[in-house]
Amino acid sequence: MHTYDTRPMPDDGLKLCNVAVLAEEARTVTLAVPVNRLERIAEQLTRRDGMVTGSVALAMDQGRIVADVELVATLEVRCQRCLEPMLLPVESQSRVALVGSDADAAAVPPELETALAPEGRMRLADLVEEELLLALPAAPRHPEGQCPNEQGERKTESFVEPTQRPFAALGALLKPGRSKQ
Ligand SMILES: [Zn+2]
Repeated sequence: MHTYDTRPMPDDGLKLCNVAVLAEEARTVTLAVPVNRLERIAEQLTRRDGMVTGSVALAMDQGRIVADVELVATLEVRCQRCLEPMLLPVESQSRVALVGSDADAAAVPPELETALAPEGRMRLADLVEEELLLALPAAPRHPEGQCPNEQGERKTESFVEPTQRPFAALGALLKPGRSKQ
């Protein structure tokens, strides 16, 4: 039958998976998904050679397929303050109802997230990607004052520039005068 939790290697989540059957059997799938296969995550990264690891525990709850998703990843993203790469540890735990259609999703209690699994099937990598996107900050930054190249000092330098402008303006004023002479 299904060998997901007896395999020695974690699943990469990339194949279509019968979550309906796994839920009926209350299976837990251990995952290790290469981040470069998660397109919407990968486009935000400065390095794409890492893995997202975790597990998806499937069960039936009140007639619904429910997945408890636990994920851990360390992603290299661009700091939105200094634009240098930074390591961002991400941990996510969530409970998601896997529904067959958008109409079914509307009937799910609001405390549960939903994901589509038409005919009880989905790629667990898609679920991982969705949960990771929710866990990622919109504008990741190094902790305050810890950007590696002291962006603060650079800003001070750039403020010095306007004081040099009077000389530039003076030069511009002198030129027409000179050409007249
Ligand atoms: Zn920074």
